[in-house]
Amino acid sequence: MVDTHIHVVPPNLPGVGSLSRVLRDPADDVAAKLRAEMRAAGVHTVLAMGEWNCPPEDPLGVRSTLLLADKVPGLKAIGVMDPVRGADRDHVRAVEAELKLGRVVALKGYLGYLHYEPAHAGYRPYYELAARYKLPVVFHTGDTYSPYAKLKFAHPLGVDEVAVDHPETKFVLAHLGNPWLTDAAEVVYKNLNVWADLSGLVVGDGSQFIEPEFKDMLTDLGHAIRRAFRYAERPTRFLFGSDWPLVPIAPYRQYIASLIPSEFHTEVFAENAQNLFRLGDSRP
Ligand SMILES: [Zn+2]
Repeated sequence: MVDTHIHVVPPNLPGVGSLSRVLRDPADDVAAKLRAEMRAAGVHTVLAMGEWNCPPEDPLGVRSTLLLADKVPGLKAIGVMDPVRGADRDHVRAVEAELKLGRVVALKGYLGYLHYEPAHAGYRPYYELAARYKLPVVFHTGDTYSPYAKLKFAHPLGVDEVAVDHPETKFVLAHLGNPWLTDAAEVVYKNLNVWADLSGLVVGDGSQFIEPEFKDMLTDLGHAIRRAFRYAERPTRFLFGSDWPLVPIAPYRQYIASLIPSEFHTEVFAENAQNLFRLGDSRP
């Protein structure tokens, strides 16, 4: 079981804060909590986001995530792109040097939080490197946690544009574009190089899955997720992710499993991620 979308450090984005109290704890405590979550959910591999806006010697913001990887077996790091620095040749060289080390499994872009569309020239060098080093580009799409974010940049249609212009690059729509799930499904259906992750569609302490007041919300959302999955007709391009610590992994996994037809569970919860992120050492 692979969780393709978690956080072990605050993303350091404009107006976002630490995401969760857990991420302000010392690294050893975060690691212990995460190991317990993984055990409870039966997850053996987690992909964890880096942070934005780090010093030049940490061009993809993965240094603190990699420290956690030493403490959590199965944790892999995802580097963070910065479209402002995409025009800086020294930065792009430093990014390539980091990719050569083989320590990151994907690149992440924060659409909406950063006011740049995917087609902005500052992202282009990252797409080229991603294709060369066979790493997918994961984009935050949909609703954001920041009042400074601009939603027009976070719509999944922006990724259609670059998916067409960069056919060698593989893209992932994080959060299935929530609330634009059908739009995201269309982008997955139409482009052979676009995947979607199912993370962060419900956030909270897990009481959402038990308390009756959330029942209607879960039912509505469930219909929308089922519809998007069916509409896309691409079961090999959906990925399980939780967005931990924004939601506990085990109950979230159970909720998603109740929506995805069981004949596709092996793909969605393990194989698709293993193939896309080339997690050769992972077991289903
Ligand atoms: Zn996230």
